[in-house]
Amino acid sequence: MKNILYVVIPCYNEEECLKETTKKLKEKLTNLIKSKKISEKSRVVYVNDGSKDKTWELIKEINKKEELFTGICLSRNRGHQNALVAGLLTAKNYADIVISMDADLQDDINAIDEMIDKYNEGNEIVYGVRNKRKKDSWFKRTTAEGFYKFMKFMGVDIVFNHADYRLTSKKVLDNFEDYKEVNLFLRGIFPLIGYKSDVVYYERNERFAGVSKYPLKKMLNFAWDGITSFSVKPIRLVLNIGIIIFAISLIMTVYSLIVKILGHTVPGWTFISCSLWLLGGIQMLSLGIIGEYIGKMYNETKQRPRFIISENLIDKGD
Ligand code: UDP
Ligand code: MG
Repeated sequence: MKNILYVVIPCYNEEECLKETTKKLKEKLTNLIKSKKISEKSRVVYVNDGSKDKTWELIKEINKKEELFTGICLSRNRGHQNALVAGLLTAKNYADIVISMDADLQDDINAIDEMIDKYNEGNEIVYGVRNKRKKDSWFKRTTAEGFYKFMKFMGVDIVFNHADYRLTSKKVLDNFEDYKEVNLFLRGIFPLIGYKSDVVYYERNERFAGVSKYPLKKMLNFAWDGITSFSVKPIRLVLNIGIIIFAISLIMTVYSLIVKILGHTVPGWTFISCSLWLLGGIQMLSLGIIGEYIGKMYNETKQRPRFIISENLIDKGD
């Protein structure tokens, strides 16, 4: 049985890219269909993320001319991650496997073959991973790699150097639908879903037309979102500092009393230094404890699924 593949591509002001992208993907998909790797019902879905230029007109035009290409249009710009979700959740109703990628073809489309092979070997998620960043500027490379390391340190489980170029099966996307959170950071969610997964390495190219839609400010926001949507480590940090300061405050109290008893103080010093440390310590500790509860609430409000059953033998019966 041949799998129906849908390729989901979010597009924001990409009129300069779409023609070339369409040409390259048409070739790729046609070859895959010819070699019987995927079904002829496979499609490329362009998701227009509220573009201000002629992107949507272009998508409609392409859709008329090319059988393999179709599109959806969001009512306004909602950002890359939301556009991706819209595409993924729409595509899963028609497809067996969905691959997400960018409109600028920075991610090598030749990795698609290997992704499908890995899927056929039984992997439900295949992550595209950049093996080198030769073509990125020094600044982009250092900030990006630093970002992955920092995320790991903050306790977010992500795949190193993997962006949003990935293959997911319909099964995974059905489960993904249960993740109702509004602050989206897809690269953190897919590893959480679980299932057997693998990676495919590829070299990242330069954007062939147009400019990056991710300026530094958006990138920093994205990184901050990633950390605060997945980790309560920053809150724990406050609690730990609180505990440490409180412990020091106890030591300082004893110390002040000793100094007082030995008579080396001016009047009032003991009182002031004791209250200073004790109050500071207690405040920090209390903040940390309140933070813990907020952390719990934050996890509860996400209403993430508590488990996902990957196979169920009960229904399979005899
Ligand atoms: N994108 C989008 N909505 C936005 C910003 C970007 O759909 O608000 C799309 C964009 O069209 C592209 C992908 O997200 O297909 C990645 O953007 P870009 O290539 O500019 O990011 P970079 O590769 O520079 O990190
Ligand atoms: Mg890009």
